[in-house]
This record gives sequence, C-alpha cells and structure tokens, in this order.
Amino acid sequence: MRGGHVVIIMQANVPDELLEAVLARVESGGARPHLSRGIERTIVGVIGGDREFEPEIFEAMPGVERVIRILHPFKLASRDFHAEDRVITLANGARLGGPGLLVMAGPCAVESREQLQATAEAVARAGAKVLRGGAFKPRTSPYSFQGLGEKGLMLLREVADELGMAVVTEVLTPEDVGEVACHADMLQVGARNMANFSLLRAVGDTDRPVLLKRGLGATVEELLMAAEYILCRGNDRVAVCERGIRTFENSTRFTLDINAVPVLKQLSSLPVVVDPSHSTGRADLVGPIARAGVAAGADGLLIEVHANPTEALSDGAQSLHPEAFLQLMDEIRRVAAAVGRQAA
Ligand code: PEP
Ligand code: MN
Repeated sequence: MRGGHVVIIMQANVPDELLEAVLARVESGGARPHLSRGIERTIVGVIGGDREFEPEIFEAMPGVERVIRILHPFKLASRDFHAEDRVITLANGARLGGPGLLVMAGPCAVESREQLQATAEAVARAGAKVLRGGAFKPRTSPYSFQGLGEKGLMLLREVADELGMAVVTEVLTPEDVGEVACHADMLQVGARNMANFSLLRAVGDTDRPVLLKRGLGATVEELLMAAEYILCRGNDRVAVCERGIRTFENSTRFTLDINAVPVLKQLSSLPVVVDPSHSTGRADLVGPIARAGVAAGADGLLIEVHANPTEALSDGAQSLHPEAFLQLMDEIRRVAAAVGRQAA
C-alpha cells in the first residue's frame, strides 16, 4: 500500500493506550496520523509519508477494528475519514454545518463606516449572524476600488462586535494572513485564489475557520483538493463555497453549479455554502438561487447586501437592498423548514 493513505477505524470506546500505540506506529513508519474523534468512532487517518504500509500491520494491533484504503485523492476532506457532518462554531456561537442554516451577509467591499454600519444593522435585524465584507478586494481591473485594507478590517470588527456578529473577510496573500486573522473570525479564500497553494498552506497554519470558494474553472475534485491543503496543515475548520463557474452561458455572470451542492455533501463532510450573488451577478436572481441552494442542501448562504446598491463601489448590480434581503430571509426560512432544517 503506497504512501500509507489508509484510515484505521478503532474499536468503540478504545482505551487511550491502545490508540496511542497506533499513533506511534504510524509515526515510526514515517507518516503523519490525523485523528478524528466522532461520537461513535475514533478514526486515525494515515496521510502522506513515503513508506508503504501493509494494512496487516495495523489490523493486528489491539483496539483496531478494521483498516480501509481511501480511494479518493482527497483524504481528510472525504467522508471515509470523517463520516459525520462537520460543524464549524464561530466566535459568536453561530454554527455552520449541522441542522441549522447560516446566513452570511454584507457588502461586497467595506467602503466607509457609515456604509458598513447601515448595511450591517439591516442584515443583523433580518437575522444574519455573520457579517461579510471585503477589505482586500481581488478586482479584475487594477483601476477599480481595491478595498480599504487594514482600516476596513478594523471597521468590520467594530461594527460586528456592536451587533454580536462574526466577521468573514477575504485574505489575498500569505503575508496578510496574520493581520486578517487578528480581526476576522473566518478567513475567506476567494475563487481566484483557490489554487494558490502557499495561501492555502498559510490559512491552514492558523486556528481560524476558512471559507474556501470554488475557482471559476475548478472541478469539485480540485476544490476538495484545495480544502485538503488546509486540512493537512492541521486546520480542520474548512467550509467550501459554490459561487458559480464559467460556462458558455452569458445571461448571468457565472453559472451556479447546483449539482455541486449534493455532490460535495456526498463526498465530503465539510459544510457547503452557496453564493447566489457572485454566481448570478444580478440582484433579481439572488432570491431564486438562494432558495434553490437551500433546497439542494446548502449549510450556508453568502449574500451581498448594500444599504444603497446604486452607490456601491463594487458589485452594486448584484447587491440586495436591505428590504429585499429582509424578504429573502423570510423565504429562506420557509424553504429551510420545508427541507427539514432549522430556520436561520
Ligand atoms: C467575494 O465574495 O467577495 C468575492 C470576491 O467572491 P469570489 O472570490 O467568489 O469572486
Ligand atoms: Mn463582490
């Protein structure tokens, strides 16, 4: 068995000494053990390493129930390693994954205290628990508004704290990870950076949850491999986001791959978020696509809202007016209830 890509399923209620003996054996064989303690089962993922492991080595050890080979190229992200849905609890207690549905909303970019405050108050009133907003913006044109940088991060923190919200914001470079992690509760890796492996490693080295967006031209497997980069550094709080992919269709900005939602849920235990704003690029389509995402099984939604969309410095056309967002939250609650999820 090459590279030791196996999972060792321990017997229920295995004593610590037996588990430790297995972990030690993995390490002495030159691989890294990853522990997943579920309610029912303790699983040891044997990931990486260049030595070959015969499954019999572990099968013969006391406390081991069975050893299986992980066939997917992604390991820690797969359901083989972590069978139960993962739940990410943010600093304000909001949960992404599990029975509830989490709505993250706010402006595309932080523009000013007034703009952020007015928008955040509106989305909080409507029931959003997480404030989104870009301080570092990945703009297509170098001449477009690039974000307020550190000032934007501080505004996000202040405004969110006043409202009891958590903050999710994008980090563009490995050098900025420390600073963004200082102010934000969740680090967003944008679509254009999904395959920026040094950034993935850098966010994987923090203790902050990560919202990883699917690349414009990335397959589901490539998205899960990007998640694997973060997970294998020891950060197990990763959510993946379907935000639309590029197709021949040009009536919308991108095409939301609704199939990806149940496919991701099947292959992986990571929470799945749908972004109806960037996928459509049109405020009038955000509602229907948000509802479809929830119906398909998304654990969360990422929605752009602006207190005054016509004045927005970025993505105004897809930003919801606070009143439209309020109405959407009501619709989302009804769809969530219809598919057996707790209302947001
Ligand atoms: C965003 O959510 O702010 C963003 C830039 O989205 P994406 O990376 O999906 O384009
Ligand atoms: Mn945007």
